[in-house]
Amino acid sequence: MPTPEQKIDQLRFAIAAKRAEAQEKHDKATSAELRAITEDVKDLSKQLSAAITEGAEPCEGCGELPLGMVQQIAVKNEALDYFEIGCSKVCRHKRAQGFSRAQAVQKWNDAKYLPPTNREDALTNNVTELDAQGTKLSS
Ligand SMILES: [Zn+2]
Repeated sequence: MPTPEQKIDQLRFAIAAKRAEAQEKHDKATSAELRAITEDVKDLSKQLSAAITEGAEPCEGCGELPLGMVQQIAVKNEALDYFEIGCSKVCRHKRAQGFSRAQAVQKWNDAKYLPPTNREDALTNNVTELDAQGTKLSS
């Protein structure tokens, strides 16, 4: 059975391929074809969210399952994955982040949410945290 990490890799690859297909076909495809691709991307994105949040508990505020996302950010010219788990319903301020899926899930389950600041502040805070870890690892 694939691990969540393997599923995430496969799904990200599949989503990127679909997006590339949409871009490539953009001028030639019918709107129905493009809609079908959009639907595929939506479906894959749902599966991706489910893989990212595997092991995450329902939101303590509203009981809904959280959503997960992953994106790449650049830290010192290096592309890093950055995971976020958050409530998609009423408690939008509840968001946990990590540089691995497991870290984000752990923070979410421990209710270690981001302070309710704007997104860029949150990113900067996390980058600082990673620098500290990176230094520790290489020394
Ligand atoms: Zn909630």
